Amino acid sequence: MSELYEYKAYTARNFRSLPQIRQLPESLKKEMEIVAMVLPFKSNSYVVNELIDWENVPDDPIFRLTFPDRGMLSDHHFDRLKTARESNTGKNQLEAVIHEIRMELNPHPAGQLALNIPVINGKKLEGIQHKYRETVLFFPSQGQTCHAYCTFCFRWPQFTGMEGMKIASAESRQLADYLRNHREVTNVLFTGGDPLVMKSSILNKYISPLLGSGFEHIHTIRIGSKALAYWPYRFTAGQEADDLLRLFEKVAKAGKQLAFMAHFNHPVELGTKAVKNAIKLIRSSGAEIRTQSPILRHINDSAKIWARMWRTQSRLGCIPYYMFMARDTGAKSYFNVTIEKAYEIYREAYSKVSGMSKTVRGPVMSASPGKVHILGISEIAGEKIFILQFIQGRNPDWVRRPFFAGFNAEASWLTDLYPAFGEEKFFWQDDFEKLARIKMHQAVKQEDD
Ligand SMILES: *Cc1c(COP(=O)(O)O)cnc(C)c1O
Ligand code: SF4
Repeated sequence: MSELYEYKAYTARNFRSLPQIRQLPESLKKEMEIVAMVLPFKSNSYVVNELIDWENVPDDPIFRLTFPDRGMLSDHHFDRLKTARESNTGKNQLEAVIHEIRMELNPHPAGQLALNIPVINGKKLEGIQHKYRETVLFFPSQGQTCHAYCTFCFRWPQFTGMEGMKIASAESRQLADYLRNHREVTNVLFTGGDPLVMKSSILNKYISPLLGSGFEHIHTIRIGSKALAYWPYRFTAGQEADDLLRLFEKVAKAGKQLAFMAHFNHPVELGTKAVKNAIKLIRSSGAEIRTQSPILRHINDSAKIWARMWRTQSRLGCIPYYMFMARDTGAKSYFNVTIEKAYEIYREAYSKVSGMSKTVRGPVMSASPGKVHILGISEIAGEKIFILQFIQGRNPDWVRRPFFAGFNAEASWLTDLYPAFGEEKFFWQDDFEKLARIKMHQAVKQEDD
């Protein structure tokens, strides 16, 4: 195919070889390298040549998303790294500094590790997370890398080889065994990293068994991926693309839904010929595409951008699904948008689109107790409040029961909120603490073994 780019990855190691980078000031490049010591990055030839508007660098949103920026670290962390790097300390000492800073950036928010990993007969199933009754998350070990290392992403620790933190599994049989025994599960979400960095044949090995008997309760296979935005050729060019689309067709033929959960952060990512072509091919395989993104300062913190993104997605046959709050990890303060601002942006963008795009729910926080939806800001009995509800809960009984937090203009995460009206606790809090204690106990017991 003539439009096919040769895939080339750009990281801290070789980004200086890019002609577009060469024209940037040396001081900027040095800063990028220092930040990259802690927050690794990766871009590629498509992102660099088709998505980034280099006239607009460093403010270009896709540049900001895929390349590091000085502002992503606190002055304190930045200076420590700079000093360590320039003072010729030994390799071990440098690595110790890097590790320490990473640990201070909350690499595993929302109790990712201990709370969600199922334990069977005292044995942890490392590549599986089962938090909400109907949905199992699976992290194939070959998919633990990504098309990019977005610094707002809670998955970034997985790319840095931090020992013991990899949530990974090579065992497709483990997944099948688990699902066979959990009839309450209706859908499996393949996630990562990005599962589509795997070869199609490996993905097939994980998915195909779930199409056979014993898995009648699994009606949907979801794949969460950034590939449409960052490497659409995954679906349009060569044998790998063909094999992947045949696999999607196979899922449809087995009478199940293949739901493609596409990460799009900005309308620019929907504008190229390659992505439009890829969307068409995926849809004609019988799969449907749902879209999600966090709301991020410097990238998409305006109603106009979101309205344009949702409208374009609907026009291309994709279904807007979630607007997330960025997690409290990595470069959170750089990308931080307050709950108030996110809600105002969501509301305004939502008011600009037709019902076709109003499938989107947001802003949503994927927090430890569940997926918390910000419904509105209001005033009741003289008190300004946030109105919230669970879309998913660790306990499904919490779902869709409105609850109220005192308004706080600075708040950007659930943990910044307190109950309104002088109440001591949110209605779900005692229950959650009890559930969390049970899970923690299991996990700790396991660690003792
Ligand atoms: C978001 C999420 C899911 C899927 O939730 P849906 O509302 O069904 O899209 C499943 N597991 C975890 C841990 C999640 O964060
Ligand atoms: S999983 Fe998505 S958000 Fe996270 S680093 Fe990869 S591409 Fe970025």
